[in-house]
Amino acid sequence: MERTFVMIKPDGVQRGLVGEIISRFERTGLKVVALKMVRPSKEQAMKFYPSDEEWLKTVANKSLSVYKQLNLDPKKDFGTDDPIEIGKKIKEWLAEFLASGPCVAIVIEGNRAIEVVRKIVGATRPYEAQPGTIRGDFSTDSPELANIMKRPLRNLIHASDSKEVAEREIKFWFNENEIYNYKRADENIIYGL
Ligand code: ADP
Repeated sequence: MERTFVMIKPDGVQRGLVGEIISRFERTGLKVVALKMVRPSKEQAMKFYPSDEEWLKTVANKSLSVYKQLNLDPKKDFGTDDPIEIGKKIKEWLAEFLASGPCVAIVIEGNRAIEVVRKIVGATRPYEAQPGTIRGDFSTDSPELANIMKRPLRNLIHASDSKEVAEREIKFWFNENEIYNYKRADENIIYGL
């Protein structure tokens, strides 16, 4: 079975969506094996998000492609059009946002947990996230709105996107003795055991 890491960000907690979000994972058959409320420091949040150029560029491009579509000048909101500098700025906003209130950290386990959780979470930019996904059902945010207000996209939730990332993120937030081994009552039926 695979494990993945999920974090309900301050907007999800403050909108009272913790139960709704967790139940969407549980109802697929995925199992919550660790859970706690945390308020990260900005430094901790900065360490949690990656710093490699590729990640910074990916994040920046989520704004740049929309700015291009809308014929907007990224220099106006970011003071630069360099993707790496833009990525760094977004990361800083993100770390400040995570530190702004309590978050809920969760480890989820099950068959193809990483992929299934990402599918339930939906696309990063809420305005294009599909209905039926958490982001699609509960948010509408977009880069041009977020960035003009110098903040990250309010998309409620973080979820690991690969095995390596999941392993690192689980270790980042949980000790081994905070992750539990137990059987769900419906496991035999879900997995045909
Ligand atoms: P995801 O959370 O879907 O895995 P990323 O890892 O690319 O997305 O980005 C991490 C988080 O950074 C996003 O969830 C979002 O809150 C924020 N973010 C990403 N790109 C942008 C952007 N262009 N403008 C503002 N915030 C962004």
